[in-house]
Amino acid sequence: MNLLPFGQLPPHAPRRFVPAQIDLGEWSQIAPLFDQLEKCAGDCSSVHALEQWLRDWSELSAAVDEELSRRHIAMTCHTDNAEAEKAFLHFVEKIEPQLKPRQFKLAEVYLAHPLRSQLPRDRYEVFDRDTKVQVELFRPQNVPLETQEAKLGQQYQKLCGALTVQFRGEEKTLIQMARYLEETDRPLRQEAWELVANRRLQEAEKFEEIFEQLLKLREEIAANAGFGNYLEYAFRARHRFDYSPEDCRRFHGAIEQEVMPVLGELQARRREQLKLPALRPWDLSVDPLNRPPLRPFEQVEQMVEKTQRIFDQLEPTLAKGFQIMRELRLLDLANRKGKAPGGYQSTLNEARLPFIFMNAVGVQRDVETLLHESGHAFHALATQEEDLFAYRSAPIEFCEVASMSMELLANEYLEEFYAPSEAARARVKHLETIIEILPWIATVDAFQHWIYSHPGHGRAERTAAWLELMDRFGGDVDWTGYDKARANLWHRQLHIFLHAFYYIEYGIAQLGALQVWMNSKQNKPKALQAYRKALALGGSKPLPELFAAADCRFDFSVATLRPLVQMVRKESAR
Ligand SMILES: [Zn+2]
Repeated sequence: MNLLPFGQLPPHAPRRFVPAQIDLGEWSQIAPLFDQLEKCAGDCSSVHALEQWLRDWSELSAAVDEELSRRHIAMTCHTDNAEAEKAFLHFVEKIEPQLKPRQFKLAEVYLAHPLRSQLPRDRYEVFDRDTKVQVELFRPQNVPLETQEAKLGQQYQKLCGALTVQFRGEEKTLIQMARYLEETDRPLRQEAWELVANRRLQEAEKFEEIFEQLLKLREEIAANAGFGNYLEYAFRARHRFDYSPEDCRRFHGAIEQEVMPVLGELQARRREQLKLPALRPWDLSVDPLNRPPLRPFEQVEQMVEKTQRIFDQLEPTLAKGFQIMRELRLLDLANRKGKAPGGYQSTLNEARLPFIFMNAVGVQRDVETLLHESGHAFHALATQEEDLFAYRSAPIEFCEVASMSMELLANEYLEEFYAPSEAARARVKHLETIIEILPWIATVDAFQHWIYSHPGHGRAERTAAWLELMDRFGGDVDWTGYDKARANLWHRQLHIFLHAFYYIEYGIAQLGALQVWMNSKQNKPKALQAYRKALALGGSKPLPELFAAADCRFDFSVATLRPLVQMVRKESAR
């Protein structure tokens, strides 16, 4: 039984190294290929042979990666299918742990190769830099610590996932409760908000304990790798070669200076429109004019058709890419029973084709998600001709430029879904979200800078540091009577628990996306050409060069941020 939404997808290029008839779920069949690569490296007696060896390694990595993607897709499309779950877990538990040390070994072999220095610098600079860090940071004694870290992360997710409240006689998860914050009935919003806040507070002690164990582990991991603190380690481990902790702190300052006044204006307008003396935490998501939610489509096929028409107007190559995804059934978009929650874009790395998964139910958020994930899909399509596996994906700071730009560029054609006034409303809402999220990104990032540069700090000091940031970036919201909820608000931010320091990337990418959008207002064909050119580079160039190819500055200062924020302010003024 085929559990995948799409049919037969052949490899982008015929296999050369990996046998056609291989079971990639069997380690005993994969291991000999790693043996062979390790052994053959020594036989490479020319630069040409070494490059072919790299392509063989890439072919194997892509085949194994696609196997994992396929199993993941099958499982998320059929959460009620025990076979699909078993197949995925088998790969994660039996194959992946074997792969890691073998990939590490090949990285070592490559770095030590006598001919490596003769490879063209320009072509291999980024690959070598990444591979060196992989080898430099590897410590066998950190492997079990990282497993413990992952387990604590699971505990956090399990704790969050199990939280429910009784609301109007029904048991609801906290995710299900979020929609009540958009209800125009204010007492109902307050009731929903309080229930959720109090439910989280009941677990505050557990959240703190999980976090303190994570903190201890992370400090140990950093020390084992020879770093003074986890902040320095994380910047290296996340391959942040092109910006420093100081740059991030400057970005926080720029957000404070440039975004906070605009957020203040938005909040004042919201307060006036809602006719309230002060905004409370449950007044932030509702439509300020008390209008009912937008309904962009009834059937998912309509959403796909209208999105196609948007891309047709935007740019012919992108439009063709989306058309191909439709024809090959690389879209599974409708919400249905037995599907995992959320949305993602995944790449089938051997076929070199993207796949989009989501749970559309007919709200504006679905339209935004499809545009966002399509941006990621265009990125995957743009790198199809790249033979080095590592270069077919870009650093996350730039991946999100591809997706966030697409939301902004495509939003100009929302009239495909709406009457003009509704389209304008959807656009304003989207721009407001950008203004609201930037201070939150600064808060989450600055908090982690504080945490990991204050080893041995106590719980009260940590809370004080958080509250100081809430004062700086929280905006004009009246929390009277809810001090505890405010002091523990960070407990709900998954990244702080699961992926330390991974959050500022969204802010950096938004700077890029807003610049692409600004460029498009001057000259749309030129901006789209640069966008496509930058996407086609994949991960083959350092971040500043990827930004430059997209006609953007890679700079987090006030000078870059100010004109972008002012543009958003102007465009969102009603
Ligand atoms: Zn994304």
